[in-house]
This record gives sequence, structure tokens and C-alpha cells, in this order.
Amino acid sequence: MAEALSVYPRVVLQPKRASPFYARHPWVYPGPIDRVEGTPADGDVVDVSAANGSFIARGLFNSRSKIRVRLFSWDESQALDEGFFRERISQAIALRESLGLREEGGSSRLVFSEGDRLPGLVVDDFSGWLMVQLTSLGLADRREMIADILQDLLRPRGIWLKTDPAIGKLEGLDLTDRLLRGEAPPSDLLIDEHGLKFHANLTEGQKTGYYLDQRDNRQLVAKHASGKRMLDLFCYAGGFGLHAARAGAKEVEYVDGSEAAIELARANARTNGLMDGSTFVKGDAFKYLEAQVAARRKFDLVMLDPPKFARSANNVSEALNGYRRLKSLAMRLLEPGGIMVTCCCSGLIQPTMIEELLGRLASSERRDIQILTKLTQPADHPVAATCPESAYLKGYICRVL
Ligand code: SAH
Repeated sequence: MAEALSVYPRVVLQPKRASPFYARHPWVYPGPIDRVEGTPADGDVVDVSAANGSFIARGLFNSRSKIRVRLFSWDESQALDEGFFRERISQAIALRESLGLREEGGSSRLVFSEGDRLPGLVVDDFSGWLMVQLTSLGLADRREMIADILQDLLRPRGIWLKTDPAIGKLEGLDLTDRLLRGEAPPSDLLIDEHGLKFHANLTEGQKTGYYLDQRDNRQLVAKHASGKRMLDLFCYAGGFGLHAARAGAKEVEYVDGSEAAIELARANARTNGLMDGSTFVKGDAFKYLEAQVAARRKFDLVMLDPPKFARSANNVSEALNGYRRLKSLAMRLLEPGGIMVTCCCSGLIQPTMIEELLGRLASSERRDIQILTKLTQPADHPVAATCPESAYLKGYICRVL
């Protein structure tokens, strides 16, 4: 068996560049690569080996991506065939079952890319409709096989392929959104989240249609909301504001740059009977913050949940500047004792960077900041211990004195 498998083309690393891959980091960039032996087509299986020829790991090749090889297995006898993907997907689903997230009508992330040892595959389940995102060419090429496996294991109502043009560019992928199996999801699906209802248009909405990853954090933030005036910036469907309103927030101002998002937040407030004290604003969060600071307005709770600012290692410092500006403006809207919640969903930004930023802000704004609670991603978005980038969601509930 092992002999038959050694026919794979080989990506040979330079001397002394192999340690991250022995350490099971799943992304091989061009830097450490010495040469490619054989002529793998994009999407083909390749072996990555050390300079002395010894096998390190097996993965999928893509000359069009900065991530030349995504690694799937460190076992030389393991073929990356249908049985392999079926096994990995089954294991991912079994985890969600054991977490109690597979109840009828529920929603959860069934497969989370590197976190489930399937780099490039995300599958969300919304009441039996599966939304699939393929962020690597190797898996995009195997989409029919993946759809068959999902169909067979889960018997879903439908499987919809959701693409992200920005990722398509990075990977050299040319995919369009479309139905892969079964029926298309309805344009207005009601999702239940801890007893609140959220309208979702899965095919048209952002990402896979709804941000499941903040599910538990919305409840943690709501604990600070009773009797408060809240500003929910980057609100999208209004998840944070609605949970806060249910927990007794006096006023909630929802702000988002997208008209569709604001309409969605409004519809959700209406459906949950939480319109009292609500205001909905379509606008740029930075400009809106500046205007509120200029008008000397005050809030008791400011929520910052911006989109990913850092898409590549080159713009991490620019992204940090953006986060810094948001937080410094938000702090000016808070009386002493006010709560600022700040989230960051860029995998390239490490928690220590945000914590240092909070420290620097406290000193430049001459105000103390207490970190009360650290927020992270839920267990259906597992973190691969060997891939820090998979720990993408970090948030801080802070008290500003
Ligand atoms: N808080 C949301 C998720 C936010 S996703 C939730 O709990 O579900 C990020 C949101 O920021 C998106 O809805 C996007 O439309 C919005 N956005 C992006 N840039 C913006 C900007 N400059 N000003 C205001 N909103 C922005």
C-alpha cells in the first residue's frame, strides 16, 4: 500500500525549513519550498518531504495560491481518497452530535476547515439546509464528491454552494453560487438562537447567511445590558442588540453600512417584539462614531463587531490601526464604568496584539480599561492547536473607567 502511494509528486522543502510542517502546520507557502518533483496539476495530491527526502505530510497542491500545499495527513499510508474525506467529515459531524448541536430545526457549523482537519471546507447547517463554502482549489475540484458524502451522511433538504469572490481570487477559483443537491433554501428562513428568531436569506446573505459564531457571545454581552443605552455597531442581523434588548436594554441603536443588513435587523426586532427603544441607521461606523463624539452623545454599552480587516500578512498593521481608531472613538462615548465590547475576526491577528492595543489605548486615552470577559469561537468552530490562524474570533468585554 505505502509503495503504491509513493507515486505522488513531491514538494521538497529546503534544508532547515521543515520544522513547521513536522509541527503539523497545514499551510505550505512558497518560501520554504526548494523544488517540485513531478508535474502535479492544481488540486492534485502531493507529498511534502524534507530536503533528505523523508516524508512529512500529504496534501493538495495549488500553484495559483500563496498556500501552495494544504496538508491533510501526516500518515504516509493514508490515501486522500473518498474514504478519507468521508471519515473526516463523519468525525466532524459526530463532534457536533456529541455537543448536542444536531437537534431538529437547529443550526450549527458542521465542518470548520483547519479546525476539523479539512483545510478549505466549511459546512453550515441551517434547519437541514447545508451551506458549503470551498476556500481551497483542491476541495473545490472535489465538490461533487463532497456533496455526495454530505448527501449520504445527512440526507439534507438541500446543499447550496456559497462562494466568496475575494477567496476565489486568492485561490484562482472560478466558482459561482449554486444548488448542488436537493432544494434551494427558502428566501426567508427563521433561525432560532437561544429563543430569539432571526430571519435569514441564506443564498443572498453575507457569508453562509448568518453569523453562527457569535451565538454564545451575544448572550454573554447581554448580561451587561439591563437598563443600558447600547450602540450596536456593525450589527448585521442585529444579533447583539436583540439579545441585549431582550435582557432589558433601554435603548439600542443598530448601525451597519449595508442597507440590506439594516432592513434585516429591523425585521428581526419586529419579529421578536423588540422595537421599543430601537433605532436603525445605515451608515459607515467610523463616520457615525465621529459624529456621535462630536455631538457629545453618551452610551453605556458600545459593541464593535467589524468585518475582517486583515486579509493578508501585509495589511496586519493597517488593520490594527483600524481597530485602534474604532476603540478610541468608542471609548469617548462611554461615561466612566461604561462597557466596550470589541471583537476581531482576523485569523492573522493574535489575541496578544489586541490586548497590547487595549493597553496602549488606556495609556493614550488616560483611562483605565478592565477586561471582564474574553470571548472566543464556539466548539462547533474548533481551533487546531497547530494552526493559530484557526483561532480567528477574539473578543473582549471591557469596562472603561
Ligand atoms: N455583529 C454581527 C456581525 C457583523 S459582520 C452579528 O452579530 O451577526 C460585519 C458587518 O459590518 C456586516 O454586516 C457589514 O455590512 C458591516 N460593515 C462593514 N464595513 C462597515 C462600515 N465601515 N461601517 C458600518 N458597517 C460596516
